[in-house]
Amino acid sequence: MNITNSNLDAAAPEVSASPSNFIRDIIVEDLKTGRYNRVHTRFPPEPNGYLHIGHAKAICLSFGLAAEFGGQTNLRFDDTNPSKEDLEYVQSIIEDVSWMGFDWEDRLFYASDYFDQLYEWAVQLIKAGKAYVDDLSADEIRQYRGTLTQPGKESPYRKRPVEENLQLFERMRAGEFPDGSRTLRAKIDMASPNLNMRDPVIYRILHAEHHRTGAKWCIYPMYDFAHGQSDSIEKITHSICTLEFEDHRPLYNWFVEQLGIFHPRQIEFDRLNLTYTLMSKRKLLALVEKGLVRGWDDPRMPTLAGIRRRGYTPQAIRNFVTAIGVSKTNGMIELAMLEHFIREDLNKRALRVMGVLHPLRVVIDNYPEGQAEEMNAINNPEDESAGSRKVPFSRVLYIEQDDFRENPPKQFYRLSPGREVRLRYGYFITCTGVVKNDAGEVVEVHCTYDPATRGGNAPDGRKVKSTIHWVSAAHALDAEVRLYENLFTTEDPNDVPEGQDFTANLNPNSLQVLTHCKLEPSLAHATAGSRYQFERLGYFSVDPDSKAGQPVFNRTVALKDTWQKIEKRSAASPLKTTS
Ligand code: ATP
Ligand code: MG
Repeated sequence: MNITNSNLDAAAPEVSASPSNFIRDIIVEDLKTGRYNRVHTRFPPEPNGYLHIGHAKAICLSFGLAAEFGGQTNLRFDDTNPSKEDLEYVQSIIEDVSWMGFDWEDRLFYASDYFDQLYEWAVQLIKAGKAYVDDLSADEIRQYRGTLTQPGKESPYRKRPVEENLQLFERMRAGEFPDGSRTLRAKIDMASPNLNMRDPVIYRILHAEHHRTGAKWCIYPMYDFAHGQSDSIEKITHSICTLEFEDHRPLYNWFVEQLGIFHPRQIEFDRLNLTYTLMSKRKLLALVEKGLVRGWDDPRMPTLAGIRRRGYTPQAIRNFVTAIGVSKTNGMIELAMLEHFIREDLNKRALRVMGVLHPLRVVIDNYPEGQAEEMNAINNPEDESAGSRKVPFSRVLYIEQDDFRENPPKQFYRLSPGREVRLRYGYFITCTGVVKNDAGEVVEVHCTYDPATRGGNAPDGRKVKSTIHWVSAAHALDAEVRLYENLFTTEDPNDVPEGQDFTANLNPNSLQVLTHCKLEPSLAHATAGSRYQFERLGYFSVDPDSKAGQPVFNRTVALKDTWQKIEKRSAASPLKTTS
């Protein structure tokens, strides 16, 4: 029987009844007071890199909350910065959001679609005396801006007449001025305690081709001038974003109020940070560009493309995001907690198989040569409907090198000379001797088996202290298996000695490639993306590098769960440590 379980991803998202959170409370209140009579959210990635597990939190929140209230969610590319954006990123983001199980239906938008409207709105502000063309350089603007304790200084160009501003802005658009020579600024308050309100730049000159609008524009709106207005155009009710935008909210509100357009509500939540993990797209790009990982979808990367390749399920990620909840302070979540959720999900649905990563030959001397029989093996003890399969057994087997010791230390109960153990779904075997190579290493173990123990129990009731897995040598499938450790050795990868950068914390052992693994033959037709539990070793998924008859597996996660221990230890203290 060929067993595949590649359709794990197809399940529709269970929008889980997440614990109460303050964003939901605000939505409920807005519906009650009638501020809005519907819920419409958006997920607004900038296409300047691949999405990562932090984005998954934002995706689950925006799509999940809207769904909970029977609302809608738009996917909108925040593509106002042409120099770093790329079509490859657009495509990967579309793929990743749908993989997460969310549907924006026909509402895929680009902020760049609104460039004409944004330009008109800028003109409207100029006409209202609320914006002016400034000739100060970027450096001068910074100097004039003041500090948290000192008010800013007004630009000498602040009092330019409306007519002159209109003409200069038109000439900026027509390409008459070089990059950086002029900006359009909102005229708000240079003494505001909020630096974002001190006449923020709203348009800059940038002679750069845009991946969608080509050479049409040489001036581009700043994020703050594009985001709220894009939300408004799309009639977004709740614009959910991360905490760093909290100080931008007054500006967000100012623009929609000055323009007199539909007023969405911006709500901020805490960014997801994970131990041993970097989330900055700039740094992830550096890893890719320097060849320190195999690409954006390297299974060690925290990108959705990476963890998908590694074998994570969208359901596990959604469960994790639900469990961590939302708050108003940035904290740090243990990577072990994410791993706990993937284990929990795969435990329920991954089919069990046997595979040997570091093979050691075992010859059963009293088993007839040339004979083979089929042993019955259970596919998933957690799911009766997964049924069972046949695993071939014969005279020569492979077991893990680790499961044999010629001179066993105390507490080692697996195979050793004179010791009897159970072969999973097989027989009891007793070790009778070993064969060594010239270097004195054990290369073959000899055993006898007890035919009366077929299936794993002795009729006389005698017990063995361990059960080990195995693969029949004659039937084994050769495979490559890639084992992973954390990409970084330090909890905070940014924590580096003076003069070094985060790459100093890369774990040299993050990838280990095993090329001589032996798997049970049922895996011969496993399709890319399928996930299995290799008994006693962990969860594994089939890598797209696999070729017919030569599968490549990634270890998604080992079996041992360290999170529950951590959880117990910190049961009294809160989940997060506030940074
Ligand atoms: P970076 O700063 O690394 O470039 P970003 O936040 O600018 O990342 P965007 O593409 O602008 O990336 O993000 C899209 C959305 O995802 C935003 O609403 C942002 O707040 C949210 N987001 C990004 N990173 C995280 C994170 N670590 N946790 C939760 N939400 C996040
Ligand atoms: Mg951003």
